[in-house]
Amino acid sequence: MTSYASFHARSISPDSRAAFWEEQARLIDWETPFDQVLEYDKPPFARWFVGGRTNICHNALDRHLPSRGTQNALIWVSTETGQERVYTYDELSAEVNRMAASLQSLGIVRGERVLIYMPMVPEALFAMLACTRLGAIHSVVFGGFASVNLAARIDDARPKVIVSADAGSRNGKVVPYKPLLDEGIALAQHKPSSVLLVDRGLAPMPRVAGRDVDYAPLREQHLDAFVPCEWMESSDPSYVLYTSGTTGKPKGVQRDTGGYAVALASSMQHIFCAKPGDTMFCASDIGWVVGHSYIVYAPLLAGIATVMYEGTPIRPDGGIWWRIVEKYKVTQLFTAPTAIRVLKKQDPAYLTQYDLSSLRLIFLAGEPLDEPTARWLTEGVGKPVVDNYWQTETGWPILGMARGVEVLPGKLGSPGKPVYGYDVKLVNEATGEDCGPNEKGVLAIEGPMPPGCLSTLWGDDERFVKTYWQTVPGRMLYSSFDWGVRDEDGYYFILGRTDDVINVAGHRLGSREIEESIASHPAVAEVAVIGVQDALKGQVAMAFAVLRRPEQAETADARLALEGDVMKTVDKQLGAVARPARVFFVSMLPKTRSGKLLRRAIQAICEGRETGDLITLEDPAALEQVRDALKGA
Ligand code: ATP
Ligand code: MG
Repeated sequence: MTSYASFHARSISPDSRAAFWEEQARLIDWETPFDQVLEYDKPPFARWFVGGRTNICHNALDRHLPSRGTQNALIWVSTETGQERVYTYDELSAEVNRMAASLQSLGIVRGERVLIYMPMVPEALFAMLACTRLGAIHSVVFGGFASVNLAARIDDARPKVIVSADAGSRNGKVVPYKPLLDEGIALAQHKPSSVLLVDRGLAPMPRVAGRDVDYAPLREQHLDAFVPCEWMESSDPSYVLYTSGTTGKPKGVQRDTGGYAVALASSMQHIFCAKPGDTMFCASDIGWVVGHSYIVYAPLLAGIATVMYEGTPIRPDGGIWWRIVEKYKVTQLFTAPTAIRVLKKQDPAYLTQYDLSSLRLIFLAGEPLDEPTARWLTEGVGKPVVDNYWQTETGWPILGMARGVEVLPGKLGSPGKPVYGYDVKLVNEATGEDCGPNEKGVLAIEGPMPPGCLSTLWGDDERFVKTYWQTVPGRMLYSSFDWGVRDEDGYYFILGRTDDVINVAGHRLGSREIEESIASHPAVAEVAVIGVQDALKGQVAMAFAVLRRPEQAETADARLALEGDVMKTVDKQLGAVARPARVFFVSMLPKTRSGKLLRRAIQAICEGRETGDLITLEDPAALEQVRDALKGA
C-alpha cells in the first residue's frame, strides 16, 4: 500500500505529476485522448488534459447504462411536499435526454448559457446534466435568492434561457419563485429569450407570453428523445458558479470540463471511498459548490446513487436524516457543521432509533468544525467524521483525509492534510515568506492548481489574476483568503478569514480566535465577534452571543454578570487586548443561506451603515436582534 505522503508528493512534483494525473484521468472516458496532461506556460492559467475531448454527462450517465441501467441513480426525497421518487440510471438518462431536447428546441447549443433558478427538485438536476450534455454552460443560482441577487447574476452570465419553477418550499412554507424571477429579469439589463418553467402546483404562476414555456408539455413532445453528447475540449467551460458572497461581491467561478470530471471521479475513490452499490447523501443545495460536486456530478461519475433532499434536518422531526440513511442504506453522508449543530439540539434518542449500519463515513465542510460538534457526532453515530476544507473556487477539497489511500488518524479541529494535487503553503501576510510549524499564516496554493479548480473568473481573466494571484508579497501564489496554521505533524487548522481581522490599538486579532475563546464559556452556544470602528483604538471587538439557555440573560443584572464573566474568559485565554468591548446576547445570528456567519452584516449595523446587498440572509430577523441589542447600549 502506498503511503499518503508519497502519493501526495507524486501528485505535485513537476517530474511525476503528469504521470500521476494521467492515471487519474483513466477514471473517465475520453472520446479523443489528450496529448498533453498539463499546459502551464501562461501561469497562473493552467490547462489540464490538453487536446482531449470528453463530456461530463456521458461520463455521469451514458457510460454506465450497459452495466448499471437498472441500478438506482437518483433518490429524491422532499419532506416539504411529502414526495419521494427513485430514478434508475436508465430512467435518469431518459429524463436528461428529454430535458436536453427541450432546451435544444429553445435554441440552446454548445457554449450558450442557461441559468438555473430552481428548488431542490429532480428537474434541476436534469437541467444541469442536460446542459453539460449539450455543451451549454449552466449557472445555478440558489433558489429563492432575492431579485437583486438574481439580476446581478443574469447580467454577468447573460443566459439565453432560464430554467425555473413556480415555487420552492422552506420549513413547510411555500416560497413563490416566479415573482422573484420576473422581478429579477425586469431589474437585469440582459433579457433571456425564454424561461422554461416547471409547474409543481405549489403557487400561482402567471406566464409572460412569448417568453415563458411550460416544461411538462415540452417534455411530452420529447419523450423518446436521444440527444447525442457534445464532445467538449477538456478546457471548455462546463459551468459558472458564483461564490457565496460572504465577504463581498460574488465572483463567477468558471470550471472546465475534463479536469473537473477527473478531479471528482478521483476524489470519490480516494477521499469519499465510494464503491459500486454505494449511496451518497449530500445534504446541501445544488446552488452551492458542494451540491454541484457531491449531489450531482461526483456520485454519478462514480456510478453510485445520490440522494437529493428538499427539506430541513428537523422536519417532520429530528430523525428524518437518520431515517433516510436507514431506508436507502446511505453509505456516505455529507453536510455542513451548521446542520449538525441543529441536530445536536434534538432528542439524542433519534441517533439510536434507526439502523445506521450502512453508513461508513460522514463528511463535513463549509465552515469550521468545532470540537464539541465533531465529538457529539463521532460519539453519537460511531462513524468517522471527516472534516474537509475547500472553496467554490476549487470545486473539491483542498484539505482533508484521503482515506482511500491511507487511513491516517484525524485530529479534532483539523480538516487534515493537503489533498493530493494541492501544493499548499502557509505564508506570512506581510513578507510572503513560508511559515514554520505552529506559525499562523495565509493559506495559499502554489500553481498550477490541480484539475477541477477554477480556470478563471467568468469573462474576467484580469480580475482572476488580480484577485487571487497577486496578494502574496513577492510571490505568485493563489490566496485562499483564509488564515491557517500547521502543526509539527503536518495537520492544518483553519483560523478564519483574512478579512475578519480586528485591529485593536495596533494588535491584529482574528475574529475566530476570540469567538473560540467565548464559545468555550459553558453558557455560550454560538457567538460572532466583529471589529467596530473606534476613535481611540482604531477598532474594538464586539461580541454577539447566543446562549444555551436564553433565560440566563433575562434580567439586566444577569446579562451584566454574564457579560463580565465572558470577558474574564477571554482575558484569561487571550489577554486583555482581545477582550470584547461589549458582549450582547441575541437568540440567533445573521447567516448566509449556506449557513455561514455574516460578520460584515453585524459590522455594518454596529457602524450605522446600510447592510446593502445582504438580502441573502437565512433569516433577516437576526439583523433586527442585533439592532435591538445595540439600542440598549
Ligand atoms: P465569498 O468568497 O463570496 O466571500 P464564501 O467564501 O463564503 O464567499 P464559499 O466558496 O462557499 O464562499 O466558501 C468557502 C469558504 O468557507 C472557505 O474559504 C472557508 O473560509 C470556509 N470553509 C469551507 N470549508 C471549511 C472547513 N472545513 N473549515 C473551515 N472553514 C471552511
Ligand atoms: Mg470565498
